[in-house]
Amino acid sequence: MIKKISSFLFLGIICVSLFAQNAKSKTNDPLLNNIDKTVKPGEDFFLYANGGWIKTNKIPDAEAAWGIGNLVQEDIYQRLININKKATLVKAKKGTTTQQIGDFWSTAMNTTAVNKNGINPLKKDLARIDAATSVAELLKLAAEFGTKGSSTFFSSYISQDDMNSEQMAFQLSQGGLGMPNRDYYFNTDEKTVKVQKAFKAYLAKIFMQLGNNQGVAIEMTAEVYALETRLAKASRKLADLRDPYKNYNKMSLAALQEITPNLNWHEFLTAAKTPIVDTVIVGQPEFYKALDKELLATNISVWKNYMKYNYVADFAAYLDDNTFMDKFIYSSSMSGAKEPRPRWKRVLDAQEGAMGEALGQLFVKEYFNATAKKRYENLVEEIRDAYKNRIANLTWMSDATKAKAYDKLAKITKKVGYPDKWKDFSAMQISKSSFVENMQAANMWWHNYKVNKLNKPVDRTEWDMTPQTYNAYYNPSNNEIVLPAGIFAVPGKKDAELDDALVYGYAAASTIGHEITHGFDDQGRQYDAKGNLTDWWTEKDGEEFKLRAKNIIQQFNEFIPVDTLHINGDATQGENIADLGGLLLGLDAFKKTASYTSGKLINGQTPLQRYFLGYAYSWLYQARKERLANQVKTDVHSPAKERINGPVVNLQEFYDAFGIKKGDKMFRDENLRVNIW
Ligand SMILES: [Zn+2]
Repeated sequence: MIKKISSFLFLGIICVSLFAQNAKSKTNDPLLNNIDKTVKPGEDFFLYANGGWIKTNKIPDAEAAWGIGNLVQEDIYQRLININKKATLVKAKKGTTTQQIGDFWSTAMNTTAVNKNGINPLKKDLARIDAATSVAELLKLAAEFGTKGSSTFFSSYISQDDMNSEQMAFQLSQGGLGMPNRDYYFNTDEKTVKVQKAFKAYLAKIFMQLGNNQGVAIEMTAEVYALETRLAKASRKLADLRDPYKNYNKMSLAALQEITPNLNWHEFLTAAKTPIVDTVIVGQPEFYKALDKELLATNISVWKNYMKYNYVADFAAYLDDNTFMDKFIYSSSMSGAKEPRPRWKRVLDAQEGAMGEALGQLFVKEYFNATAKKRYENLVEEIRDAYKNRIANLTWMSDATKAKAYDKLAKITKKVGYPDKWKDFSAMQISKSSFVENMQAANMWWHNYKVNKLNKPVDRTEWDMTPQTYNAYYNPSNNEIVLPAGIFAVPGKKDAELDDALVYGYAAASTIGHEITHGFDDQGRQYDAKGNLTDWWTEKDGEEFKLRAKNIIQQFNEFIPVDTLHINGDATQGENIADLGGLLLGLDAFKKTASYTSGKLINGQTPLQRYFLGYAYSWLYQARKERLANQVKTDVHSPAKERINGPVVNLQEFYDAFGIKKGDKMFRDENLRVNIW
């Protein structure tokens, strides 16, 4: 449901900024400056709109990709550094935000101490794995280590019950793999094979680091790899994880115990400091049956090696340079990055995960004002109105379903900028001991925080993103859109300087309209106004929706972003539906503004042209081939280029704006254009 792609987007080093470049040109209008005049809009609209920028802004060596999110993030990083440096100068009381921020920063930035320590901070736990005499003991350790941030065997978490959004539930899903997903173990294309080799080389390095000679390390790697391949075989594919009903299997703890006789759940929950629950929601029961068999069939020494490599890999980012670099080399097989990002950025990212909201509280005080908050809150209401009109005009939906859709739309909660209520981090044990121990302490705080939610009413005021995040999300269980302050930032511009066309294309369409449409995409439409998974559609209307979704699946299946890899139209349909919906809703709302009706040109561009260029600006982005391949295989979002060229060709206004005609590459026959909302 998340708008932007994974954190890869935020990996960045300082580069020549967009504004420096703009300062030299006649105007500082990104919608003009980013254009590549050698490309016609009808040939490749994405390249026409963004190609000028792409040509002059090389991807930095430390990055997998580079784009608008990085440009915004550069500004945010500078602000966060100021907050951190200020905190280190104060002698603050233990447990205060200032003490935590200051100690976290100074400890993590102390490279001498980090390098001198090596993997010493992990040795005690690694020895406990070695000392275990049974798989049952290992599982108890796995439960305990999970609270510190090293998750093995499977994935467990606590979140809202899909069928009863008033309740939190203990949930289990497939997991336990060292590569991103099951396909990595079975695909045979060149890029995947390269990743498999890099992964095996990485495991062998860890086993040698733990004291084994090369021959033994290679043998251990082969055994662990074979074990993970068996777990991968029992795992579902990306598209098969989309159906919320098939991935919802509520059962009593006793019933779960029956299908996994070798996994003692009472012991596991106790070791994970989690109350013994009556019921569990299991995503993929067949994975648990397969895992249970492996617990007995696989030798305990292989399980030990499996746990040990995971323990080192999970914390490598917070350890000495050698341990970190071994992992970086493996990761770069999927990102294409040529060198690691600078330490200070990695530390800020780690801190973001540990206590981002504490920083956010200080961040918005200094950098987000009430006028901006109001502007975007109003924009949400304009988009809501536009959606209401669209539903009213649908010819394929019955009045009965429409009434429920209106109700759901009206009840979507909007969260804009920052939370009204802040999390209390005072119990988080941040000290000057070591970077890795601070991260483990933060993970334990988060674990307790989640566990404390069990058997309590759901807190609907919470945010799952921090205010300084360049991202946004729709949460179906709360029927809410969450739009952090960071997502509205335009590099080098103050909010008041932005013209309507840019705001409607960049923010209203690509963020607000996109997130609201998630409430009515292939997954979101299956949840009702209260956030419960329940079918509120008439059977015929449901079929009509699927028929239209099929068109967008087909449209995106045709795209080949890298090598011979096609986009997975099925797995990405929710995001593609949200993009198309956002583009339509943003335009509906923009058409009501004086900027549109006056027809006034800005820098020679019509309002309609600027609207589409503003939309394309939200995906100003380029990625390395490795990263693109990784995205196509693991991400439910289509790559940036297709997120622009895919939706625009379904709107007649796009053809009108740029005079695109039959025979142009971007032209799509009217009967093939997708029309859902
Ligand atoms: Zn999305």
